[in-house]
Amino acid sequence: MTSFASQVFARVDRFCRPLPMVLNTVLVFSITGEVSYLVLLEAPLDADQKKTVWSAWWKAAHLLAQYFMLGNICWNALLFLWTSPSIKGVFLGGEGMGQGWRYCYTCETHTPPRCSHCYDCNVCVLRRDHHCVFFGQCVGFRNYRYFLSCLLFMWSGLLYATLMNAEVFLVILKEGVTVHSVLLLLIPWLMLVSGQVSARAFAFAFIADTCVVGFLLVSAFFFFHLVLMLRGQTTREWYSTRRPYSLGLRGNLRHALGLRWYLCWLCPLIPSPLPGDGMNFEVTGPLESTR
Ligand SMILES: [Zn+2]
Ligand SMILES: [Zn+2]
Repeated sequence: MTSFASQVFARVDRFCRPLPMVLNTVLVFSITGEVSYLVLLEAPLDADQKKTVWSAWWKAAHLLAQYFMLGNICWNALLFLWTSPSIKGVFLGGEGMGQGWRYCYTCETHTPPRCSHCYDCNVCVLRRDHHCVFFGQCVGFRNYRYFLSCLLFMWSGLLYATLMNAEVFLVILKEGVTVHSVLLLLIPWLMLVSGQVSARAFAFAFIADTCVVGFLLVSAFFFFHLVLMLRGQTTREWYSTRRPYSLGLRGNLRHALGLRWYLCWLCPLIPSPLPGDGMNFEVTGPLESTR
């Protein structure tokens, strides 16, 4: 019975793992589609403002900005997934082994400082930051640049979509702040099920809500990791208040984003080789926790 239950659990777990990524992909493409629709057919939404019709150039600039952000999100996400941050295929040991090295009993190998074992990926990861549940992969030394750039463009894309959808809120609320309009904005699903709103109004209200919630969530993640990158810390080191590997603002940027840190965030295809090997780090502060 126990083995049957564990088999069922393993199958459910395997089925559920790609769900966050599938949901994320659907949301990113739905939001881009809705904002493109707003730009092409609806902008400005309010009939009173139709006299300020957007020019073809202005619409083209909006579409270009949207697809630039979408392209960056998708390409960075793919490169993040394709770039394994693990110790697989990496020669560990030799003369570099010294202070800070540990032994992983699961991987049966010595591992360098800042490397730790991920029980989801079932492997040790170089300069491991955390396991990202949305991508189902660890964030580590080699793929940190793609993770941060993806977050940057998700953040800017959601900010843009929230501003574009602000007009949806204004149109809905223009008839007055009624119970109906407030409920439509707060719980559009309930309004759809109860038949008190058209499918079109529901779709707009739902996507506008998703943009606001998504923007707040992504803002928290993005700024947290931005601060970590500037401080030269991993999430684990931040918890223990240690900053033993901080190389100053410029040095930390170079170590996280590569030698072309000032340019590489614009496009994931811009080569930006990382200094160092992910195993040897210059120690600039106390290694023990100060807490
Ligand atoms: Zn391990
Ligand atoms: Zn992992």
